[in-house]
Amino acid sequence: METFEDHYASMQKAIHKYLPNADMTLIDRAVEYANAKHQYQKRKDGSPYIIHPLAVAEVVAEIGLDMDAILGALLHDCIEDTDASHEEIEKIFGATVAELVEGVTKLTRTDFTTSEQAQMESLRKMFMAMSKDIRVVLIKIADRLHNMRTMQYQTPAKQIKKCRETMDIYAPLAHRLGMQRIKWELEDLSLRYLAPADYEEITNYLSAHKEQDEQFMNTIQDKITDRLTRMGIQSKTYGRIKHVYSIYRKMQNQGKTIDELYDIYAFRCVVDTIPDCYNVLGHIHDLFNLVPGRFKDYISTPKPNMYQSLHTTVIGKQGIPFEVQIRTWEMHETAEYGIAAHWKYKQGTGSGTEKDFEWVRRLLETQQDSDAEEFVQSMKIDMFDDEVFVYTPKGRVVSLPNGSTPIDFAYAIHSGVGNAMIGAKVNNRIANIDAKLKNGDIVEILTSKSAKGPSRDWLTICKSNQARTKIKQWFKKEKREENIIHGRASFESEMKRMALPLTALSEPELEAHLLKKLSFANWDDMYAAIGYGGLTATKAVGRIRDDITKALKAQNVEKEAYNPLRMKPDTEAVLRNRHAVNGVIVEDIESCMIKFAKCCTPVPGDAIVGFITKGFGVSVHRADCPNAANRDDPRQAARWVRVRWATQEEQPFETTLELDCITRDGLLLDVATVMTTARVRVKEMTGKDLPGGRSMFTIRFEVKNVAELESIRKKLLNIRDVTGSRRGQV
Ligand code: MN
Repeated sequence: METFEDHYASMQKAIHKYLPNADMTLIDRAVEYANAKHQYQKRKDGSPYIIHPLAVAEVVAEIGLDMDAILGALLHDCIEDTDASHEEIEKIFGATVAELVEGVTKLTRTDFTTSEQAQMESLRKMFMAMSKDIRVVLIKIADRLHNMRTMQYQTPAKQIKKCRETMDIYAPLAHRLGMQRIKWELEDLSLRYLAPADYEEITNYLSAHKEQDEQFMNTIQDKITDRLTRMGIQSKTYGRIKHVYSIYRKMQNQGKTIDELYDIYAFRCVVDTIPDCYNVLGHIHDLFNLVPGRFKDYISTPKPNMYQSLHTTVIGKQGIPFEVQIRTWEMHETAEYGIAAHWKYKQGTGSGTEKDFEWVRRLLETQQDSDAEEFVQSMKIDMFDDEVFVYTPKGRVVSLPNGSTPIDFAYAIHSGVGNAMIGAKVNNRIANIDAKLKNGDIVEILTSKSAKGPSRDWLTICKSNQARTKIKQWFKKEKREENIIHGRASFESEMKRMALPLTALSEPELEAHLLKKLSFANWDDMYAAIGYGGLTATKAVGRIRDDITKALKAQNVEKEAYNPLRMKPDTEAVLRNRHAVNGVIVEDIESCMIKFAKCCTPVPGDAIVGFITKGFGVSVHRADCPNAANRDDPRQAARWVRVRWATQEEQPFETTLELDCITRDGLLLDVATVMTTARVRVKEMTGKDLPGGRSMFTIRFEVKNVAELESIRKKLLNIRDVTGSRRGQV
């Protein structure tokens, strides 16, 4: 069993190492306080509870946080689990520590795994906490790390739940905060419970090959060190095996067994100065053969999580490729501990490293206006998608989410630039404002004082959350009257679609209740919010639908009591009648046959139009389908009808993708693996060889919506030798 003494000693060691001037009497007071408060609690393994806060404080010290954070870590479960109060902690340890403990408590009380909505709400809380004091989140991550390290004492159900949560939230967050070491450990620990067989296979393999691996790594390491020493470059070079989860992912993605994987070795070369980094790079390329296309310079263009290094992949005499990362000691610390290291640095110097926190700032701007679901959706885009790096004409680097347009760029510079934008130049040529920016593009925004401000279409064109938020803010401020009109129209049409009477909104008792449920003071405020895009009409109506239906029912029951002979108007039945057919609602037509056009196989999320066929109901095409191109033709116009997707439907839709490939053995298997891991139902998959060593696969499969389709398409395009894809043309 683990003892208090062991844990205290190792925490003390960490504090001495990272905070040599720490006041140990204060630490001891917090330890005693926490110990007294938790005295009746035990860990699941039977050891005293205090071991947990000690271990968390140790991690917090290791990642380089300050005294307040260590005290906060020691006390982090006190408010949650014992009779300790905010006031008491504040009195003994000060306001900052009390705030930290309170913040961690709030996060602890949020459950990330209940419903989608709750999970999003929690993520939002997490980001809020981050905005107030990043240390709260860092302590929470340390807390989760220790809980993951001691996961073996939990029930299997709890293990799975906690590990999922760790993979969904804590590991990506640690990644985004630049804390690679902790991210890796969280991932490996999760994998151990989520895919125990795979985890064991990999670890067994690694331990069986340990000697061989070490021999290989030592040879390379010596070779590099030798050369650098002879050249007079101070360096520390070492090899390592990539972490278990990253090996696991490679196996999954490439459909290989572990002994078929080559790139599991990575070498690191840490030096004193940036010029040394580039010198070392030259020597590495001289010593080994370069693998083309793998060199990346994250020193001149740091990753958004502040990571900096040079990366290159080379092949030695043994024929085994390996990656070499070259960085300075400062970059090294940032790579390991990320935002925590920078936080410390910032505290120490008092100087602004604000631009390093660009993404935190963006996040905060974003969170003011949006509701939870939308917030998290956009967060996922901003946080986890790849970035593109583009330049201002003066050479400043701007990082944007992948797929960004000049609109995103303009708003990233300043909202004033975005609002005055009338056009854009990319690489000195006039470009469309919806052009997709590529790495290295030089973007210039053309502005005019007489510009009318953003257009509503921009909301759907822009990719970054930051731009969307700023555009919405503009509409919110500039166009209240207009917003109310727009918002009211879409709200009322949604009410109509759901067969809800508008009169319900002004029913004396109901009105106040509905407004409260929607959190608006009056209807105009809500219409304005819908108008500027802060809330969707679907969501607003969804929130009050049940209440209205219930109230209507109650009224009907009352009426029936007075007039028992009257037929009961069945609200439910009305709703059902308006229900979508095959997930599609045809406007102005109550109920009709729906089929999906074979030529373009639309899926939810696609813009669609309907065509009234002779005898087969309405056929639904993608709006961009060539067969729908002539819908303005007056001879046919009457047969084209407006249709849209019903939002709640979850039934699958069939679609077709064609892949262009370079012919090779095993490609079909790779494609099949992607489809299987994506868990979609494949209806048909065919391949044919084309002249010139090329081939084409056609896959017919089911997806829920266009987002799912796009994510699968992205995965397919990641397969080696898949060169292009097309939505099905039959
Ligand atoms: Mn805890």
